[in-house]
Amino acid sequence: KRVLVVGSGGREHALAWALARSAEVEAVYVAPGNGGTSWPPSPEASDLHPRAPARSVPLRSDDIQALIDFVREQGIDLTVVGPEAPLARGIVDAFRAAGLRIFGPSRAAARIETSKAFAKALMRSCGIPTPDYAVFHDFEKARAYLRARPGPVVVKASGLAGGKGAFVCESSEEAEEALYRLMRERIFGEAGDTVVVEERLYGSELSLLAFSDGRTARPLLPARDHKRLLDGDRGPNTGGMGAYAPVPEVGPDAVDRVVREIMEPVLQALACQGTPFVGVLYAGLMWTERGPFVLEFNARFGDPEAQAILPLLETDLLAALEACVEGRLGDVELRWRPGACVTVVLAAPGYPGPVPEGLPIAGLEEAAAQEGVLIFHAGTRREGDRVLTAGGRVLAVSAIGGNLPEAAARAYAAVERIHFEGMHYRRDIGRSSPAIR
Ligand code: ATP
Repeated sequence: KRVLVVGSGGREHALAWALARSAEVEAVYVAPGNGGTSWPPSPEASDLHPRAPARSVPLRSDDIQALIDFVREQGIDLTVVGPEAPLARGIVDAFRAAGLRIFGPSRAAARIETSKAFAKALMRSCGIPTPDYAVFHDFEKARAYLRARPGPVVVKASGLAGGKGAFVCESSEEAEEALYRLMRERIFGEAGDTVVVEERLYGSELSLLAFSDGRTARPLLPARDHKRLLDGDRGPNTGGMGAYAPVPEVGPDAVDRVVREIMEPVLQALACQGTPFVGVLYAGLMWTERGPFVLEFNARFGDPEAQAILPLLETDLLAALEACVEGRLGDVELRWRPGACVTVVLAAPGYPGPVPEGLPIAGLEEAAAQEGVLIFHAGTRREGDRVLTAGGRVLAVSAIGGNLPEAAARAYAAVERIHFEGMHYRRDIGRSSPAIR
């Protein structure tokens, strides 16, 4: 079978890699992909080296019509959507209307991510634990609310803000400032015209992702991501600087509880509204003294969680995604490799601000030859034999190990072999104690 992955980051490289391992896959295409998403077929496929070839195709992930044309020309059997932006533009609806098979939620179901106001109302209606909140469309009213209730809050843009739309505030001055930037300066445009003001919770953060066919949820391994730039979860928010899976202190009972108390009620509510959710439902959770609370939902794999979770998946990924699309996920049991996987993101100088591009990257082959190591490209491009930086998050270095410390040691051993000017990364991924705030 032929598969198309839509997107250009490390997540999409990991999806392409995992799909190319499938027994049934003959070729993987990635649109637009990056410097790592083209490789030849491998006659001597091994555990970490997929058999099927992959190729980047120069089509933008938001050019839905061009993607549909490509899928028809190439006879692609399944399209898999990586990022949220094409989901928000209705790529799944357009493919389905064209009679094409695609893995991902419809635009209406993706509102669980694209509108925090929608997600909060849905959670409230089905009694899912989530911080108390209020929604505002008006700056003055929001400010009056903040002044009437001093105390720690989180101010969030309701719409998509590239993972940077949440302000965790220590004081009401800080909260007012965040409100001003979102609603008056409109730093995220219309995404911040509606704002959610939320009670601040304390506990330990956890990401639980699940495949869904619209009714059934099958949880993936619990993961922890690190969004802050600096060690010890300090500094500004980023798209994500690293992740690991599974999370040792989150056992099967905790996962079952999240599926039962959170995933299943949400899927049921979306199905009842006539907008069943097919795809990856991602719950960003805070485990508090009162149990798990939902901070946010995403409607797709996380980046870099995907790069830490997919290497551990033993079940054929294509088979699982097809079961979702065909509404028979109930027949599928996911199997996982024992051990752990740690992913360290290597960022360009200046990230998360503006970055230079075109810096040559050295040491990739040597790093990839290390035991248990997988290098997923993100902001890279190829120029002849050279690989150059082409974005803020440049590479995701993943390593599998028998346990978390071994996986972390392997990942960092590989990182040390890679170099580009100004490269920076966190040194505590998979090595720190849980992020308890
Ligand atoms: P993402 O890239 O994950 O989609 P986002 O901009 O949608 O990010 P959230 O995930 O809602 O925003 O919040 C980002 C981070 O802010 C969380 O990972 C968490 O660390 C912190 N946070 C959010 N809400 C709360 C809360 N109610 N209490 C404490 N911390 C919170």
